[in-house]
Amino acid sequence: MDEKTILIVDDTVENLDILAEILQDYDVIDAINGKMALEIVHEEKVDLILLDIMMPEMDGYEVCQRLKSDPVSKDIPIIFLTAKTDEASIEKAYDVGGGDYVTKPFLPKELLSRVKKELQIQQMMQELKRLAATDPLTRLYNRRHFDENTQPLYQLARREGKPLSLIMLDIDKFKSINDNYGHYIGDQVIIHLAETIKQNQRKSDLSARFGGEEFVMLLPNTDLQGANVLAEKLRKNVQDAVLEISRRQILQYTISLGVAEINVSRGESIVEGIKKADVALYEAKEGGRNQTAIYTSSGE
Ligand code: GH3
Ligand code: MG
Ligand code: MG
Repeated sequence: MDEKTILIVDDTVENLDILAEILQDYDVIDAINGKMALEIVHEEKVDLILLDIMMPEMDGYEVCQRLKSDPVSKDIPIIFLTAKTDEASIEKAYDVGGGDYVTKPFLPKELLSRVKKELQIQQMMQELKRLAATDPLTRLYNRRHFDENTQPLYQLARREGKPLSLIMLDIDKFKSINDNYGHYIGDQVIIHLAETIKQNQRKSDLSARFGGEEFVMLLPNTDLQGANVLAEKLRKNVQDAVLEISRRQILQYTISLGVAEINVSRGESIVEGIKKADVALYEAKEGGRNQTAIYTSSGE
């Protein structure tokens, strides 16, 4: 298992030393004030933060609030460590987003147990998020994740005036693949297409399984021409692939693709772009399948 990184924040060096000693089985980073802590979470992958409350300039509550309102650090669990034991202070710690609260002086074993528990919760949350975002068959993103994550790419394209394109892909005559070879082999074909997509996409692309045997790719910094090149590459890769389904049997399949560019500067939405790519995909099917169709509207 990879080592977990804990950020400890305290304005007293001796406290930082004691904490580092207790947490010696973890990768520990220390910060002597809130400002430093806020910077560190942008530079390092931090799994948990132990945060002192009483600090000059920026107290722990404010540091916590800022961490929780920053997308980069909002999911990092925070344990407050403080000498304050009054009810109002404890209530405030939870109100600003703290996950746990340990009062000083603390027992090393107690602190370690709380740290362990908080890290376990964190790991479960990450696993749940991964499960909710991915399609179990292909391990590509699912439609929900796609729908919820197009906006940052859209806004980036808008800000930078860069093109943004879409490809919709659909397996040809997939029903007959299922009918002829069975659902298990059908699933292997879906997995093969997903792998072909993964191997050919860029890191910045957002690809997802959109429906049963239908996939979508959102391509930042890519115009219609570029998207068409990628679509044709995918189509040819699939066409040339020979799937060995048993020692004696091979299977080949084809896909149809619809390509569209989203007119971001004119305010065209992702949903409108998907509609255009869908229209193109329908044309590719009508045109005889195993082909890419580009969406063009009159006047463009
Ligand atoms: P077309 O060329 O027009 O796309 O024909 P098609 O047969 O591929 O189109 P259609 O959309 O009618 O059929 C899709 C089939 O995909 C129907 C459904 O039973 C099957 N399917 C959907 N999801 C899965 C899956 O996860 N695994 C398998 N094996 N089949 C699936
Ligand atoms: Mg199909
Ligand atoms: Mg379909």
